[in-house]
Amino acid sequence: MSTTKTQIAQAVDRLADDLESLSRRIHDHPELAYQEVQACGWLSDYLAGHGFKVERGVAGVETAFRATLETGAGPTIAILCEYDALPAIGHACGHNVIATSGAGAGAALAAVRAALPAGRIQVIGTPAEEGGGGKVRLIDGGVFQHVDAAMMIHGFDRWILHQDLLGIVRVGFEFTGKAAHASADPWEGVNALDAVIQTFNNVSMLRQQIRPETRIHGIVTQGGAAPNIIPENAACTFYVRAAKLDEMWALHKRVIACAEGAATATGCTLKVVEFEAPYEPLRRNDTLLELFRANMQTTGAVESPPIPDRMGSSDIGNVSQVIPAIQPMVQIAPFGTPIHSRAFEAAAVSSLARTGMCQAAKTMAMTTYDLLADPSLITRARAEFEGAR
Ligand SMILES: [Zn+2]
Ligand SMILES: [Zn+2]
Repeated sequence: MSTTKTQIAQAVDRLADDLESLSRRIHDHPELAYQEVQACGWLSDYLAGHGFKVERGVAGVETAFRATLETGAGPTIAILCEYDALPAIGHACGHNVIATSGAGAGAALAAVRAALPAGRIQVIGTPAEEGGGGKVRLIDGGVFQHVDAAMMIHGFDRWILHQDLLGIVRVGFEFTGKAAHASADPWEGVNALDAVIQTFNNVSMLRQQIRPETRIHGIVTQGGAAPNIIPENAACTFYVRAAKLDEMWALHKRVIACAEGAATATGCTLKVVEFEAPYEPLRRNDTLLELFRANMQTTGAVESPPIPDRMGSSDIGNVSQVIPAIQPMVQIAPFGTPIHSRAFEAAAVSSLARTGMCQAAKTMAMTTYDLLADPSLITRARAEFEGAR
């Protein structure tokens, strides 16, 4: 290992106590999407204290930040932090560890600043991963326009280099019928709830003819006012997920057709409600993953085999569709712990989480160093991204 990389690892070890207390502070003050004022402030202050130039509220998003360390003309490498919590169960997704491993990687690189090759390191604070699409707003705001490659990690119950993420698009259906007394004059009514129920039935039948890795799941959001009134208004919302963007949009269309068919069958009118910020699938980049793997192994982390069927969705997928980007999974919880659980929330401040956070900070900092030291690696990652290999 190069001297600089050894110094990076030593810097993380020196910073570990500070990083752990920052991680615990974020964990103990959970803030929901776009309300992460404290976490954003603490991380910005931490990076400013380590010599980064920090911009807060980038792309018009109040709880986003961009911390930059510049050592001359060269490539730009971004390390991403998430720090939003979940409703009711706090940091059960462990975003406090994502935040502090990113900030720790940045601080470790700043500690070896004099030995860094020319380029720009950006630690970017990306709020609202849990449904708010923070990274989509940052992409639209141009934050990733001049970034050559991006990386982040996510806490998990084991180390996995690449975990597929499904694209997800949300769609709402609002049906309008006609109210009437459900016993005295039922033939005068047009039943909007029937249209909702028929939509679910249509989707259930559609589900038999779709690929196994796709997911369609919905809830009824409005189902009528009282049983003695034929429901005049009824509504439902569906999430549609698929491994490829074109498949996701094709499936989205078929789910809309289920609702249209239900509207026709019941005589209701249908309003399709489109949601902002679909999450896109994660595009794999082996050039970046291989660098990450080699550095990860120097920290003592041991990789587990991929798990093909435990797939969620994240807005890092959207980033991976515009620039080469990776999100390896880092062990911060005992093997077998499900994420979004109370056990995972507790694990996110355990000694296992501290170990994972430090290993991840070292690995991301060393991978960033590799990319700055040999820009041909970025060219290769870009070529892979473009599908030119
Ligand atoms: Zn989550
Ligand atoms: Zn998460």
